[in-house]
Amino acid sequence: MATDSTDFLIIGSGIAGLRAAIGLAGAGRVTILTKAEPSESNTGYAQGGIAAALGDDDSPALHAEDTIRAGDGLCDEAAVRVLVEQGVVYVRELLDWGMRVDRGADGQSALGREAAHSVRRVLHAGDATGREIGRVLWERVCSVSSVMTVQHALVTEVLVDQGAAVGARFFDEGGRRRDIRARAILLATGGAGQIFRETTNPLVATGDGVALGFHAGARLTDLEFVQFHPTALNRTDAPRFLISEALRGEGARLVNAGGEPFMTGYHPDGDLAPRDVVARSLVREVDRTGGAVFLTLAHLDAAYVQQRFPTIAEKCRQIGLDLARDPIPVGPAAHYIMGGVETDEWARTSLAGLFAAGEVACTGVHGANRLASNSLLEGLVFGARAAIAMQQTASAGRLKPDRRQIPFASPARVVPREMDEKGETDDKDDISAVRDLMWRAVGLFRGRDSLHDAVARLTQAYEAREARVRAAPSDGEAWRRFSLVTIARLIARAALRREESRGSHFRSDFPARDDEHWRFHAVDVRGAE
Ligand SMILES: Cc1cc2nc3c(=O)[nH]c(=O)nc-3n(C[C@H](O)[C@H](O)[C@H](O)COP(=O)(O)OP(=O)(O)OC[C@H]3O[C@@H](n4cnc5c(N)ncnc54)[C@H](O)[C@@H]3O)c2cc1C
Repeated sequence: MATDSTDFLIIGSGIAGLRAAIGLAGAGRVTILTKAEPSESNTGYAQGGIAAALGDDDSPALHAEDTIRAGDGLCDEAAVRVLVEQGVVYVRELLDWGMRVDRGADGQSALGREAAHSVRRVLHAGDATGREIGRVLWERVCSVSSVMTVQHALVTEVLVDQGAAVGARFFDEGGRRRDIRARAILLATGGAGQIFRETTNPLVATGDGVALGFHAGARLTDLEFVQFHPTALNRTDAPRFLISEALRGEGARLVNAGGEPFMTGYHPDGDLAPRDVVARSLVREVDRTGGAVFLTLAHLDAAYVQQRFPTIAEKCRQIGLDLARDPIPVGPAAHYIMGGVETDEWARTSLAGLFAAGEVACTGVHGANRLASNSLLEGLVFGARAAIAMQQTASAGRLKPDRRQIPFASPARVVPREMDEKGETDDKDDISAVRDLMWRAVGLFRGRDSLHDAVARLTQAYEAREARVRAAPSDGEAWRRFSLVTIARLIARAALRREESRGSHFRSDFPARDDEHWRFHAVDVRGAE
């Protein structure tokens, strides 16, 4: 097998990976491995914007307060302070680097409002902020000769030697297996929405970094906390395209099939209640009325709507809907994962030499629920900090006192009906079965029996997939499926373990928050089960 070497290895080319690469460019050779085109990432699809305390009526302390409130008792306050304070610095740097943002009549950056933010603080570039940030970072990465990007490179393993990460194994564009060794390795592989049947995430978002970290022996935290966005386009003939929360920030309203606004009946903050509340209320309203739920902007200025949300308006137009005038059918979809590979405030994981930043990481800034527009900020801030830490001597992060490892008792085995009936070789159906199971059993409403059943099925599938990659290590498709089932099982197990409801994690059988027993971050480590 061919072996390459580099000084710093970055896996992923979203906001976290690219920002880290820029920070490392002067320190040695940097290699970015990315499994699709470099622009294909959650970052490229981010719409609403990036939060930062830039307004006259705002401050990092206020931003921290809102972040901690949304996190429902589980935010790591030290990490939040880093996010909101350093966020201002790194966002200003992006503007200095040429990021184009919407501006008000006075020429100042226009700041949008989103749910659970107490002031306007979301910097945006139309409704395609992620694309604009990606453009700025990518142009900088391309301008330095020390950074090399290898596209269509699927990383399947982190190489570990004597208790430290020393490189990665990947399939290159031609399907060949290769090793690359490095002084420090950054997981910047993004989210995991694709393990659910309904998601706003692009195809690359399969949670690979969590599986990579887990198999390398790094600690994982908070995996039960998955955010379901309430307003993805809900039409059977179209993908679940995200209809950004920024629309509600500008006055859009959720209405039922009878045209009645309903959110104030569920929460005093109405349409701008926290995401998890809105998502569950939407499902309850559908159950109550038997009809669909819509987003309406018909009472707003049509020209403004078209100009402020051109990408969403165009997507709607393609399926025959006028965003400014027609009721837009919406429903929930998996959107963001708060948990991930546990890190300290310098992106260090529990494994020396391995770092994680962005959506794959769990710094604890989001707690049990992420405040809108804080994730681009997290990728930016902790990507930059990872670059600083990666240049220092590799050392592992420390387990904080509010992180607890609790042994997991595996449920009794069952025969995974819909998985094995389809047959081992039917890749598409196999993956569809996992995604369907995750949506039904580990989605917005969770309960012991269905979680128990899901864990048993996924454990059986996990063992079969593991045996398959061991038997046929050159089969790239087998690795993809192994990775998918690894993270699906970890999330299902974490959801079964936490017997309370908090933030985005809702257990129908334990509907209340239980600080006495559950105010801590649950940790998973391979081999500890
Ligand atoms: C539709 C949508 C709208 C959003 N809107 C907003 C918003 O307005 N504001 C906000 O703050 N957040 C938003 N988010 C969330 C935000 O976009 C993401 O959390 C953030 O961009 C993640 O950045 P990242 O760098 O961690 O990962 P990503 O941007 O997802 O990048 C991950 C990279 O890793 C690569 N990769 C993955 N696995 C492997 C592997 N095995 N081998 C090699 N490469 C791999 C991928 O190809 C990709 O390049 C939105 C997300 C979506 C999906």
